[in-house]
Amino acid sequence: MDMVMETKRLPNVGETLLGETIDYYVGGKGANQAVAAARIDAEVSLVGKIGDDTFGSKVYQHLKNEKIDMTAVTPEQNIFTGVASIFKLKEDNAIVVLPGANMLLNDVDELLSEKINAGDVLLAQLEIPLETVKRGLALTKNKGGVTILNPAPYNEKVLEMLPFVDIITPNETEFEGLLGHEISDIDKFEEEMLNWAKQNQAQLIVTRGAFGISYTTENEVITIPAKKVNVVDTTGAGDTFNGILAVCMTQGIDIAKAIELAGNGATLSVTKLGAQTGMPTMAEIEAF
Ligand code: ATP
Repeated sequence: MDMVMETKRLPNVGETLLGETIDYYVGGKGANQAVAAARIDAEVSLVGKIGDDTFGSKVYQHLKNEKIDMTAVTPEQNIFTGVASIFKLKEDNAIVVLPGANMLLNDVDELLSEKINAGDVLLAQLEIPLETVKRGLALTKNKGGVTILNPAPYNEKVLEMLPFVDIITPNETEFEGLLGHEISDIDKFEEEMLNWAKQNQAQLIVTRGAFGISYTTENEVITIPAKKVNVVDTTGAGDTFNGILAVCMTQGIDIAKAIELAGNGATLSVTKLGAQTGMPTMAEIEAF
């Protein structure tokens, strides 16, 4: 649950400040990506945990209403539901995230064995225990599924997961994490991508905000510029991209076409306020 408090400035230590407004949005990378996939009519199962507070049941019902199968989202006692306190300032945000019940997600083998069949896609992020992500990816590969890893928020343990990853979708900063160094010369970005792709077998797709998306083929990097739109809120743009990409991969759509569709979907999502509100239907993407 994202709690977004609007305030003119952050309080100083020891100070109490009167803010302006508060809004509650169901969020988190996994939930957002599940909603993006369900919006384009995919059959989606979410795997996660909720706590025994009031947010738990609210989040659960909200995602059920989005037509997501929630049978693999289980409740935990004596712990809170994952929450983010977002202080929304005029031009920037300050955020504290507490993963809560999601950090108790350790027992996915049985759940995933039931849910994943050959040809299904597992789309994973890093807001649950990293060992669980790794096990989930390995199990999916064993069952003949396709794995997509959105390595966010970045953690260097991703490198241990790479043998089980078919497609990896960092943003620019996360790609620098994968590389292990910053890219000081932006003109070298594509060269760095190609070098990385030559040493690793996962298909590399880097989302680059308003610039667009770059992905590797056998010998080159292709960049699809993002369409220019009236930007209202970029929150969840990456999540929209990942959700749509995952669905395309279940439908045998070729990677270039899938990236174009997912990129256009993500660009459409930034024209509306809120991460999930702006997530488009397939008809809206095609019209765009
Ligand atoms: P977030 O954390 O906000 O979900 P991210 O950092 O994971 O985002 P980005 O690379 O910022 O992901 O955005 C994902 C995709 O969304 C971009 O590759 C692009 O297709 C689209 N997008 C994002 N920002 C814009 C923008 N300002 N104009 C057009 N398209 C955008």
